[in-house]
Amino acid sequence: MSKIQKLLVANRGEIALRIMRSARELGIQTVAVYSEADRLSPHVKYADEAVCLGPPPSSLSYLLSDKIIEVCKELGVDAIHPGYGFLSENADFAKKVTDAGLIFVGPSPESIEVMGSKLAAKQAVSKYDIPLVPGTEEAITDIAEAKHRAAEIGYPILIKASAGGGGKGMRIVESEEDFEEQMQRAVSEAQSAFGDGAVFIEKFITSPRHIEIQVLGDQHGNTVYLFERECSIQRRHQKVIEEAPSAVVSPEMRKAMGEAAVGVAKACNYYGAGTVEFIVDENLNFYFLEMNTRLQVEHPVTEMITGKDLVKEQIWIAEGKALNFTQEDLQINGHSLEIRVYAEDPKNNFLPDIGKLQTYRRPQGPGIRVDDGFEEGMDIPIYYDPMIAKLITHGQNREEAISRMIRAIDDYQITGIQTTLDFCRFALQHEAFTSGNFDTKFVEKYFQPDVLDQSLSEKEEELLAALAVEFFLQEKGQEKKVGTTQEVASGSSAWRKRLKIDG
Ligand code: ADP
Ligand code: ADP
Ligand code: MG
Repeated sequence: MSKIQKLLVANRGEIALRIMRSARELGIQTVAVYSEADRLSPHVKYADEAVCLGPPPSSLSYLLSDKIIEVCKELGVDAIHPGYGFLSENADFAKKVTDAGLIFVGPSPESIEVMGSKLAAKQAVSKYDIPLVPGTEEAITDIAEAKHRAAEIGYPILIKASAGGGGKGMRIVESEEDFEEQMQRAVSEAQSAFGDGAVFIEKFITSPRHIEIQVLGDQHGNTVYLFERECSIQRRHQKVIEEAPSAVVSPEMRKAMGEAAVGVAKACNYYGAGTVEFIVDENLNFYFLEMNTRLQVEHPVTEMITGKDLVKEQIWIAEGKALNFTQEDLQINGHSLEIRVYAEDPKNNFLPDIGKLQTYRRPQGPGIRVDDGFEEGMDIPIYYDPMIAKLITHGQNREEAISRMIRAIDDYQITGIQTTLDFCRFALQHEAFTSGNFDTKFVEKYFQPDVLDQSLSEKEEELLAALAVEFFLQEKGQEKKVGTTQEVASGSSAWRKRLKIDG
């Protein structure tokens, strides 16, 4: 066992800050790395020491594994936390780190390698009793053979890149006549995006839910599950709203999924924090999708309902400590929601919207947590993921977590760029969401850009209200006096609520 004294966080933005906060609480010194685009970022200021890696593109900065290891040697760092994205699921990097005599805060390179390939992962878990989506168990290259297998599985099917990730590298094929073209595209995309053209076929589950299980394993063979996260609200196969627990998972289903997830972890001798993703069909049958061998973006909702700090757990596990609790000690406390606030324009196909954060005020109050990596006045760089912040709420139950989230969205003030805040408000207020009766098709089924115009945001209403006051006063040709008030009738309740002017 070796106590970590100085930790380098090989990441940026909200996750770098979030990791450093836990490290500080543990009395560990922190080192930030950054690109030229992130010179003024909060994660750089927060760290005890910071080193510039190079120009903005991640291939010239955050992905420079050798340079990062060099920095560790120069500064006497003894451990690296990779966060998510970037080098976090790179087995070669994990190996280099360990070979350099440093601690990698994450699983072994072997676990990363097996689970980094969706095909190898399926093979590894096949010895265990874990349900898999019907499909091919190996890479498929021959078109005729592939067509034959697809027909057996039954359309619609999904062609998936074995090395895919981040919602990329998937193609739905509705019928046989489209198969050949889609297959060719899938292979060439997989080759160019992931440097590995291996693809396989899976039954496309038409109205699935995405439910995943958080696991923690130590280096002494103890593995527990920290319940589920429901992540079905997605756009482009990428999550936007997550919650724990799921509205549809019963205690029996939770136990079955949890035990399956522990099985997946054991199948690759997993230690550290990891996430086992499942796809769930309309009849609540669940199938193993993949394992993410790192801290997940949406880990805070699990922290809120379990009271565990997953980054501290990762650090303790990396130091060689045994878990100091068992499965029986874990309990679900209340309900938690997370929304990802992206710099994207929901009215324009969720295209990234880059610019300056002219106004940036975080919501506050009971049950609210904001994990972000920006300050007012900063530019959102074009080089990285367009996520600005994660807004997390915790409540005694689902209703409270939702109403708290809507309140927090209303209190969040962001101008200068378009964000997904209004979209999230729309989703949280939708009957399908409040009833819990939704799947990964939510956006496709219910969302058209004009729904956002119909329900004006509070901010816009405020602005309109202010304009209306001005108009009203001009019309009447009189100055606003303090003292008496009069409600101005209007169609909008917010107008009525706010427009208390004298007359
Ligand atoms: P999560 O379930 O945590 O959201 P994602 O698969 O969405 O996991 O990925 C988390 C982060 O890692 C995102 O910022 C995403 O853009 C990035 N990421 C994941 N896989 C890849 C990949 N293969 N190539 C590039 N970025 C990736
Ligand atoms: P990634 O590595 O990109 O995260 P996943 O295999 O986890 O890839 O799939 C991402 C998302 O794509 C899932 O959350 C789900 O919405 C959708 N998806 C994946 N596999 C299937 C399937 N067989 N049927 C229907 N949807 C799927
Ligand atoms: Mg996934």
